[in-house]
Amino acid sequence: MAVIQRTKTIKIMERRNFVRILGTAAVATPVLGHAFAACSGESKKQVFEGHAFPQLPYAFDALEPAIDAQTMELHYTRHHRGYFDKFMAAANGTEAASRPMEDIFANIADYSPAVRNNGGGYYNHWLFWENMTPSKTEMSAGLTKAIADTFGSFDQFREEFGNAAKTHFGSGWAWLAAAPDGGLFVTASVNQDNPLMSDAPRQGKPLLALDVWEHAYYLKYQNRRAEYVDQFWKIVNWEEVSRRYV
Ligand code: MN
Repeated sequence: MAVIQRTKTIKIMERRNFVRILGTAAVATPVLGHAFAACSGESKKQVFEGHAFPQLPYAFDALEPAIDAQTMELHYTRHHRGYFDKFMAAANGTEAASRPMEDIFANIADYSPAVRNNGGGYYNHWLFWENMTPSKTEMSAGLTKAIADTFGSFDQFREEFGNAAKTHFGSGWAWLAAAPDGGLFVTASVNQDNPLMSDAPRQGKPLLALDVWEHAYYLKYQNRRAEYVDQFWKIVNWEEVSRRYV
């Protein structure tokens, strides 16, 4: 009970901070919403209004036992927040402050390491939170077929993605991404890089992200990264992943 109460208090504090950042202006268009609306073919044009620290879509303890509340709280309030604040400091006074992240990543060679690393951290964690959920979700028919066509079966996809996450050396991310021609692929990235970056080994739109930095699992799993990766499948938000694949 005490834990739940504390979680709620922190959530409210975060919300206050969030509102303070945005000031009195209308709530900024979510960067992801902007990006994915632009990709979805629905011609509802949205105007980019700047960067904002996103709200966690669930309570800190919502993904227990796969991800424990303490890890989630530290990861969101310290790590993710830190990337966002440092990105904003690096972008302040430059055109990056008013440019969608996808545009920045598409021209990443033009930017400083501070924008790359912290902008990547800001964006990747946002994707990561949104592609997890405590609820049971279903994959769309379109994505189900694309995964079967590409990998042979869902189990084979899960094995390939799992291996990418488990064997990636050092800090980084595992991804399911869609190439410009629509083809799916699994890849891993170092540090806070992602497949949208113009110098990525293979470029594409991220559909599913998994953080394999030690800060994402060490409190609960210590050195057992494979166990963390196996637990991840229980909390994937397939509805959100399907939405990204349109
Ligand atoms: Mn992280």
